[in-house]
Amino acid sequence: MARLRPAVIVHYHEISLKGGTRPLFLRHLARNLERATADVGPVRLRQLTGRIALELDDHPAPETVSERVRRVFGVANCALAYRVPSTVEAMRATVGALVEGRRFASFRITARRAFKTYPLTSVELNRELGAFVQSRTGARVDLHAPELTVHVEVLPQETFVYLDREPGPGGLPVGASGTVAALLSGGIDSPVAAWRMMKRGCRVVFVHFHSVPYLPPTSQAKARALVDRLTAWQYRSRLHLVPFGEIQREIVLGVPAPARVVIYRRMMVRIAEAIGRQSGAEALATGESVGQVASQTLANIGRIDEVAGLPILRPLIGMDKLEITHQAQQIGTFEISIEPDADCCTLFVPKHPATRMSAEEVRAAEARLDLDRLVAMGVDGAVAETFEFPATAQPAVRT
Ligand code: ATP
Ligand code: MG
Repeated sequence: MARLRPAVIVHYHEISLKGGTRPLFLRHLARNLERATADVGPVRLRQLTGRIALELDDHPAPETVSERVRRVFGVANCALAYRVPSTVEAMRATVGALVEGRRFASFRITARRAFKTYPLTSVELNRELGAFVQSRTGARVDLHAPELTVHVEVLPQETFVYLDREPGPGGLPVGASGTVAALLSGGIDSPVAAWRMMKRGCRVVFVHFHSVPYLPPTSQAKARALVDRLTAWQYRSRLHLVPFGEIQREIVLGVPAPARVVIYRRMMVRIAEAIGRQSGAEALATGESVGQVASQTLANIGRIDEVAGLPILRPLIGMDKLEITHQAQQIGTFEISIEPDADCCTLFVPKHPATRMSAEEVRAAEARLDLDRLVAMGVDGAVAETFEFPATAQPAVRT
């Protein structure tokens, strides 16, 4: 038999619903597929009707390419396929080679023609190849719940044959929806929030507030580890580390204890917005969810929104902690988030924060602060680091 020519075949869903902007989304998807797989070996990428093929002739690790593709936003599903000429003989030979050694009691053939001038219909192909597999393996055809599905996609130039289809993460290609600045603590929620924004096609710039030297640098280490993990989904990230301890100290001097948490959060939003704008961010994102803690009541969320000149997106707003935790486990941030740490929110935090601050109370509290100077202190003191995926030989570049 002729040598097998592997290719990862990528199907997208939401992108295919786009009208005039579809080519733009596809360009982002294609570029991200290339970036996600570049270090594994040479890949030739082709846009076909309704799908993308990553051709892997002479590639050292097609399986690894397939695994990487499964984590690219915009991919609805993908499969490690084999390219054959569009003759029934060639299809048979490859299907035969693929089912060889596989044990299954039932199967179905799912043939699709991406163009309608092919001499055989999908039904005829299903019948031809079905009879062939049945005679080779003795397995029965089951159209509804088969143990194995043999996919045959006939395109004008060639046919793709494959067995297993893996779900991708869905969503939209990162970069297609603009830039968001995500406020990243070391907690469970905000990394999930950032991931969900990436899933909607946003490039995420990370902003972390730490309290060094008032607290040990553990929260920065966690933020770095989280960004490093999340960079696998957007290939390049910037993390801005903002010194917040001195700002908190001044707030403590001027602001009564119950009001402090909301004032801290408003200060974080002002600083994150200034930093985000420098990176072209058009929105902020946080890991807040209604009612989870005192700062996340509707009233206090309102107070936080008041200071933002950009929309604050809260992708977790309607999720409960269990759902968020489950998602954190799936994306691999949970184990980092639960490491013990000294977050700035543990510093100078009142025992009984106010759950309903009015606009008037907040204004009175902030009247005692030199807001512009405090914001400038955070923005000017921030240090940015760059993360790359796949990790290059060098550690993250400090800039
Ligand atoms: P998380 O699990 O994300 O820490 P949380 O449940 O602890 O959230 P809060 O402490 O009220 O809730 O924080 C709300 C949001 O404010 C966080 O999700 C995050 O987006 C932002 N935030 C809190 N602390 C920091 C920090 N040190 N640096 C950057 N952002 C922060
Ligand atoms: Mg937290």
